[in-house]
Amino acid sequence: MKTVDVVVPLYNEENLVDELVRRLQSATAELSYSFRFIMVDDGSRDNTLAKIKAHQERDQRIIVISLSRNWGHQCAFNAGIDYADADAVILMDGDLEDPPEMISDFIKHWENGADVVYAKKNSRVESRFKKLLYRIFYSLMRRFSNVTIEKQVGMFSLLDRRAHAELKKCSEHNKYYVGLRSFVGFKQVQISYERHKRFSGKPKQTLDKLLTYGMNAIFSFSFLPMRLLTSFGIFLLGTIATVSTILFFARLFRFNFWPFYVLPGWTSLVLILLFISSIQLIFLGVIGEYVARVYDETRHRPHYIINRIYTAEHALQKSDTEELVISR
Ligand code: UDP
Ligand code: MG
Repeated sequence: MKTVDVVVPLYNEENLVDELVRRLQSATAELSYSFRFIMVDDGSRDNTLAKIKAHQERDQRIIVISLSRNWGHQCAFNAGIDYADADAVILMDGDLEDPPEMISDFIKHWENGADVVYAKKNSRVESRFKKLLYRIFYSLMRRFSNVTIEKQVGMFSLLDRRAHAELKKCSEHNKYYVGLRSFVGFKQVQISYERHKRFSGKPKQTLDKLLTYGMNAIFSFSFLPMRLLTSFGIFLLGTIATVSTILFFARLFRFNFWPFYVLPGWTSLVLILLFISSIQLIFLGVIGEYVARVYDETRHRPHYIINRIYTAEHALQKSDTEELVISR
């Protein structure tokens, strides 16, 4: 029988673990594949871990990877993706915005020869502000990225063994999986779906985390910031050359009408100076961002740290897992 691993990151989601497990079980009940549900507990401070472990006692297909602290959405996926080892690996958020019922659609396309199947959201249940941010982000990425990153496409996807193996080889820090998935290639199929409402609780991806996520995407999948820097430099040089030529001839032919008469105004000078230095500072920051990323890569720090992996065998030795919950 073919094997399928479903990777789900969870951070402080105690209120939806039961529903998530129930929906995963019923969505896969009719499918004749050997499933494993790899739940990555991303350093939750509530009862998420204990709850998943309770389910594990009843359903041995559940594997729990408990991380040493909160590492963030992409790192949690990273841990699950590294652990997964199956003919197909499915990635999905744990908040039920990605409906588990779509697993059968993914598998259908996979069986029809697709190596990567990813879902595109028809609607996004988000605040207006977030929607606007997403729109800006996607249009920037579409225009400037060197891999195709489509609108309204997220983590929800299936990867065939080969695509999964290649994705695992991408060992950079600050991963942006949506981009990497497109980067690895193979036969990719898109299916669309209605994004559901979060089953319970608030999004755990704060605006801050989302911005970092967006920055990772922009800086690792495009040279947009650097290109802007160069184009702006060229534009400025061109403008200055034109203006000085005009001024030179104006002086030569003694034009004394606006804007060619000479003003005492140091205000304009100071303003121009401030403007140019602020632009310089911004772009120094841009360069700093690249340097920081190079530095980050050279340190070879782990992408996540696992506290412990609970497989079904562990679940059976109940006493020693119980201790860990207390020590958390
Ligand atoms: N998540 C995580 N670590 C984090 C933040 C989120 O593992 O630091 C999980 C979260 O529990 C959920 C999934 O990642 O299962 C998606 O998170 P969320 O719904 O908060 O993000 P959004 O839908 O806003 O992108
Ligand atoms: Mg969500």
